[in-house]
Amino acid sequence: MGKEYLIAGNWKMFKTVAESREFVQALAKEFTAFPGLEVAVFPPFTALAATHGLDPKIKIGAQNMFFEEKGAFTGEISPLMLRETADCVLIGHSERREIFAEHDEDVNKKLKAALQFNLPPVLCIGETLPEREAGKTLAKVRLQLEKALQGVAAADMEKITVAYEPIWAIGTGRNATPGQAQEVHHFIRQMLQEMAPGKKIKILYGGSVKPENSLELLVQEDISGVLVGGASLKVDQFSAIIQNALKLLRA
Ligand code: PEP
Repeated sequence: MGKEYLIAGNWKMFKTVAESREFVQALAKEFTAFPGLEVAVFPPFTALAATHGLDPKIKIGAQNMFFEEKGAFTGEISPLMLRETADCVLIGHSERREIFAEHDEDVNKKLKAALQFNLPPVLCIGETLPEREAGKTLAKVRLQLEKALQGVAAADMEKITVAYEPIWAIGTGRNATPGQAQEVHHFIRQMLQEMAPGKKIKILYGGSVKPENSLELLVQEDISGVLVGGASLKVDQFSAIIQNALKLLRA
């Protein structure tokens, strides 16, 4: 069975409702559906309802959620609410961890809540620059993965997508080389196989992905797609990355 790709765009705190709708409509014109290709964008909360279902080729995801179903949690959004307007949800993005002090325990609770409400989670993990330089990349990734997946049933593992995003490569213009990315993806793949033998789990690479470096990353054996920040804000750039995935699927 050939490869399948997920090309995902994290818009962070960018785009109004009108801009988000315009983007999805314009992007939909840039590619045709193809077996094995999945495309998703993660607009801000305010634009979820307005973009969800706008085009069947483009899934809509949320960038974060709280782990409780409902209650006195001012400013938070629950999985029960998100389920109405999102197809999936990012969990544990490094900006959530670093700026908003999300810990592995929160990530674990959020991941399990997303699964409970049938909202497929995209779990983000990755090391800092000092950790990489100290040779601790694989140890960090192992720890984050173990903590995030604690108590998750093997049967649920296939609903999860893992995004490996080295923090030093996010928004810096400095991406991991294809070899560096593949090494960590292979390690993650092995860990996931041990945890859930035989389950097919997508592992995305994220960190300064652009049209120019996307092909060499996507071609790596254990890379099943990309999570794109900056370059997902422009239709031409994001669709060029999708075209590269299509090239590989058609080859
Ligand atoms: C991200 O936000 O997940 C990301 C990878 O950003 P960028 O592509 O801008 O590095």
